[in-house]
Amino acid sequence: MDNLEYVLMSRRRRQRKIRARRRLIFAVSLLLVISVVFTAVLIRCSRAETPAPTTDGSEIPESVYPITVDGIPVTTRLLPEGCPGRPGTLRQIKYVVIHDTDNTSTGANAKNHANYLENTAQETPLSWHYTVDDHEIFHHLPDNEVAYHAADGEEEGGGNKNGVAIEICVNEDGDFEQAFQNGAMLAAYLLDAYGLTPADLRQHYDFSGKNCPRTIRESGRWQEFVDLVTERYNEYRAESSE
Ligand SMILES: [Zn+2]
Repeated sequence: MDNLEYVLMSRRRRQRKIRARRRLIFAVSLLLVISVVFTAVLIRCSRAETPAPTTDGSEIPESVYPITVDGIPVTTRLLPEGCPGRPGTLRQIKYVVIHDTDNTSTGANAKNHANYLENTAQETPLSWHYTVDDHEIFHHLPDNEVAYHAADGEEEGGGNKNGVAIEICVNEDGDFEQAFQNGAMLAAYLLDAYGLTPADLRQHYDFSGKNCPRTIRESGRWQEFVDLVTERYNEYRAESSE
């Protein structure tokens, strides 16, 4: 190999090396750009989930919209915004309030109560958040909005102002034991979701003295209901501390 040939070969080798380095730099920069964009998108998405501030500066929790609770399917069918039953007032969540529909008619299940509520709430300030029967749950309102179920107006710290209301069906063609169980599972889920405890479980009776939830009260089963909620609630707490 003469001198000229040697010079040409080493130049070619050098150029190949430069090209390889350029490709590497390009790939690394591309990766950097992708990860910056990805991080920015992630930050934006997580910001969108932060709770909305209220007028008094306290933070209102975002409403949950479960699809199932312990295998019980949940259908979300929200009342139209601004109707008498859904004024859209955001508030703190302090209690889960238990009612029963006191309607033993055949067919008075969760779906029929959802239909009923959708008509009534257009005319009257009457509403609640969930109806549960022996096989399904309907979700009528965001949990962080005021509803009219406890007959205590908009009293601060009251059932309407600060409670998430569950109506348990008592239709005679339904399995009440299963509805009772499903209601307890939903209550435990909501207590856990909003950082409450079983001590925050209330009866409609506690706010306005109405004999509600009548079926549970008159059969002396309130403590049994609370125990069922507490048992499931404790499982949620144990799972989250694992
Ligand atoms: Zn009630």
